[in-house]
Amino acid sequence: MSALTALNEEITRCQLCEIAKQRTMAVPGEGAEDADIVFIGEAPGWNEDQQGRPFVGQAGKYLDQLLASINLNRTQVYITNIIKTRPPGNRDPLPIEVANCRQWLDRQLEIIRPRIIVTLGRHSLVRFLPGKTISRAHGTASPWNGITCFALYHPAAALRQASLRAIIEADIRKLPGLLDQLPATPPAATPSHEEAPPAKQLNMFEV
Ligand code: URA
Repeated sequence: MSALTALNEEITRCQLCEIAKQRTMAVPGEGAEDADIVFIGEAPGWNEDQQGRPFVGQAGKYLDQLLASINLNRTQVYITNIIKTRPPGNRDPLPIEVANCRQWLDRQLEIIRPRIIVTLGRHSLVRFLPGKTISRAHGTASPWNGITCFALYHPAAALRQASLRAIIEADIRKLPGLLDQLPATPPAATPSHEEAPPAKQLNMFEV
């Protein structure tokens, strides 16, 4: 079993939040374990809770179209959320829920080691870049713990508000060029019983 599969199984057993009692399924995430790009939404909705998979409702169909517009599909990237359980009534995630899920998302990112994190919507943006606003940050890249963080509006917001569609569609087209500019991902850390790797590679979360 891969490290990510083992971690995701652990996530599905997590009971740290009250909302865990009400869920049908936890939604850890899915996609390529060695993805260059990780897309991070807010929280599972009703469809995701039923299926245990991220972005499978209307917003997910639109995300699939956005990926196709840059010649990608969901098997080539990783897709997850800042919290892994659906909040009842699709309310915003509570700060305690974001805090409880922080370790899971950080550990997923440590394993995947993406070159780019794409935040979808304001909740995801401020999880990585507190103080930023989506209206100013969308379509721009900022460093986060050695990874490039690129902000997009949430696909559901673009479905609700027609004026955002052209913006999100233009913003995502910047991704291939951004990826081309970035150095290749450093090789994964060597297990401790082997020869030590060059120092920095173990600590991607160090600034
Ligand atoms: N919206 C999200 O933020 N995440 C999902 O998985 C689905 C809809």
